Amino acid sequence: MSYSGWMNYHAHIDKGFLVPPRKYIDAPAPERAAWTREAKKQMTIFEIKESATNALEKMYQYGTTYVRTHVDVDPLFELRAVEALIELKEEWKDRLVLDIVAFNQEGFDRFPETEYMLKEALQLGVDGIGGHTSMDKDAKEHIDTVLNLAESSNVDWIEFHTDETGRVDDFNLPYLAQVTKDRGLKEKVTAIHCCSLTNVDDDTAKRTIEAVADSGMTVTTCPTAIATRSLTRVKEFAKAGVTIQLGSDNLRDFFNPLGSGNMLQYAQLLGYVSRFYEADEINQLISWIQNSPDNPRVQEQLAGLSLNLQYDGKTNVELLAEAPAPRFVQPVK
Ligand SMILES: [Zn+2]
Repeated sequence: MSYSGWMNYHAHIDKGFLVPPRKYIDAPAPERAAWTREAKKQMTIFEIKESATNALEKMYQYGTTYVRTHVDVDPLFELRAVEALIELKEEWKDRLVLDIVAFNQEGFDRFPETEYMLKEALQLGVDGIGGHTSMDKDAKEHIDTVLNLAESSNVDWIEFHTDETGRVDDFNLPYLAQVTKDRGLKEKVTAIHCCSLTNVDDDTAKRTIEAVADSGMTVTTCPTAIATRSLTRVKEFAKAGVTIQLGSDNLRDFFNPLGSGNMLQYAQLLGYVSRFYEADEINQLISWIQNSPDNPRVQEQLAGLSLNLQYDGKTNVELLAEAPAPRFVQPVK
């Protein structure tokens, strides 16, 4: 079978592929977050590029032609990671499309100056802006601030790590769906993770899924999150007509020491966790790592980057059963 390239809709390649002496130690999460903050303070543009390049090489080796990465913007990294990734975007443009989302990982409460720094990042020419609904005391205010910044600059993507904790008292997806609809932002807005949705009662979940579908926003799930919490109600979202995307999320950093960048492995993990076992279900799952973004700029950039990815096996079921590397990756002439 042959395929033209895989889509990785969510990653953090600015702080992955830790370079020694930094290494993963399985300490409590707040400690690992503190190490990440320390690393971000120290990392130079050169080091950030080195880490991100390692991630891109892996992804490309497995046939990925579209990568959307969040890039932290805060007083620790300042704008170094954005500058590093903008350079890489240019260096990799003949192999893959690298979309950069300037991301508020640390919250406005901890670092209020992030709002001003995000404005600067938008002026440097990123493709999107990202927030995190669990980082600030007032999640609604956080969402509104990020949306206001986004609308002042006309970016392609507005993405939120949404209800990542999985806690029912941390459930902001209904508000995000509401404001997406009110502002008419549709597929520009992506909710990543949506873990709390799995833990709220079924009626609330149903109403929320309908609101998400009605708003036109997209949902990205990152199957490796299963290590620490439930994934979202992905089958119910799909059934309601919501566009689903998959991402690798963290790769070989202080949060997760594993990660190949092989999108078939992430799809296989979701297949296990959410029981995509029948052929139709597996075809649908494969389509989520195959479908390119509904965006003319990206479509045009991707048009020249098609690969000829060859795999043994005759069906998507066989492909997902093994999640192999392609026999070879070669650009279509
Ligand atoms: Zn993430």
